[in-house]
Amino acid sequence: MSISFPTRLVWRGDERYEQTRRETLWHAGLPNRFPAVIVQAIDVNDVVAAIHLARDRGLQLSVRSGGHSWAGTFLRDNVVLLDISRLRDFSIDREAMTGSAQPGLKGSELDKILMAQGLWFPTGHCTNVCLGGYLLQGGFGWNGREYGPACMSVIGVELVTAEGEVCYADEKQNADLFWAARGAGPGFFAVVTRFHIKVYPRSLVTMNNTYVYPAEVFEELYRWAHEIGRATPAEIHMMLLRDDSASTAGPITILSATAFAGGEEEARATLSLFEACPARKRAVVAEVNRPTTTVELTALGTDRHFDATKRYVADNIWTHATFDDLLPGLQQIVGSFPPAPTFMEWMNWGYDHEPPRQANMAYSLEDDFHFSLYTAWDNPADDAKFVGWTTERLRQLEPLSTGTQLADENLINRPVRFVSDENLRRLDALRTRYDPQGIFVSWLGRP
Ligand SMILES: Cc1cc2nc3c(=O)[nH]c(=O)nc-3n(C[C@H](O)[C@H](O)[C@H](O)COP(=O)(O)OP(=O)(O)OC[C@H]3O[C@@H](n4cnc5c(N)ncnc54)[C@H](O)[C@@H]3O)c2cc1C
Repeated sequence: MSISFPTRLVWRGDERYEQTRRETLWHAGLPNRFPAVIVQAIDVNDVVAAIHLARDRGLQLSVRSGGHSWAGTFLRDNVVLLDISRLRDFSIDREAMTGSAQPGLKGSELDKILMAQGLWFPTGHCTNVCLGGYLLQGGFGWNGREYGPACMSVIGVELVTAEGEVCYADEKQNADLFWAARGAGPGFFAVVTRFHIKVYPRSLVTMNNTYVYPAEVFEELYRWAHEIGRATPAEIHMMLLRDDSASTAGPITILSATAFAGGEEEARATLSLFEACPARKRAVVAEVNRPTTTVELTALGTDRHFDATKRYVADNIWTHATFDDLLPGLQQIVGSFPPAPTFMEWMNWGYDHEPPRQANMAYSLEDDFHFSLYTAWDNPADDAKFVGWTTERLRQLEPLSTGTQLADENLINRPVRFVSDENLRRLDALRTRYDPQGIFVSWLGRP
């Protein structure tokens, strides 16, 4: 089997190679890792052909959907880099409340399609993240506390295995592969060519409160966010963000809380929690009870934090440590914070759900709070400085953490737990079974 369109093979040495490699990663910090060839697949036959190409040449294979891995985990030396961003087909079955989408479709595109039909799926907070990487690693989306990580709403996957075989996996068929596809993230050992998903009725009202607090309120605000912790209503999506690019008056913290509700009254009542924040009077800006949509929140809100002209490193922890234990580490971060658009995010994630929502899947690690750093800079000469700052700051919090989220992983610099120990053992065993020759690259930072 051969690639359907040979010009979509870009070998190292080809004059288009460096530009093509550059375009695989969304930000400017392109790692010095050089695939042997980049395959720009346009259909499943190309995916199968790329796997045979890797096998015939004795090369490993890495996969790219939307290129929004912070670490550029698909960029590896001397591999076949399979770019499946052109696989973008989707379908919705309103009767069955299901859908299917290929990995190159952006979450924001799916959100718009569903919004037009009054339907919902927990898509992520950035316009350009594609479903491929997002769904494999978990997927922390809008209203994700209520729906769980988005991979919980995946009901089947179409795959191409390391043998080049096209197959389907769900709870009943190839159940091991389905289990792994929900949580293995960048360590998955097959190519997903289509996700089958559940879709839901969309909440009638999406309402947002946004507050801007000056830097000196930092401790009081974070302490309060920690205090409300698991008691934050499940249908609230709440983030604290430090992003100094949003201010000309020095460091700030933005509190953004979005309620997904059945009606305006209910949304207002849920959001009243944030009006009761003890620091409320010190907010320098307050937008309260603003009707909105996730399409708007993504395009006008969260996208603003991401500047593709910068170099980035991200890292994160899950934690349920006490606020007093976390405080020294947080203070050190705030006291040495790099210039904008570096930002940090605190998310109240855990809540007392009943019954427990964990499904039978590789994804297995989450906690009450998620805390992450996204450090941005311009000059390649500063790489070591900013990667070092980010990694060290989170290493300091490591003893207080239960692990890391694969969405913002920094495993190459800080290899820590990202699924339960039991699930990691099962993932390793499944990799040996389904990919005995090690065709697929593994997580960066793990052999
Ligand atoms: C600006 C920005 C905002 C983000 N916001 C969120 C957010 O709100 N919520 C959240 O959960 N995450 C978020 N992320 C993290 C993001 O979900 C992950 O980085 C995800 O992997 C990106 O998906 P992608 O397809 O664009 O990435 P890619 O970089 O293309 O993929 C990452 C890795 O996943 C694997 N992979 C991807 N597609 C396939 C496939 N079809 N088959 C097999 N393996 C595959 C490969 O190992 C690949 O190296 C954000 C990232 C960025 C940069």
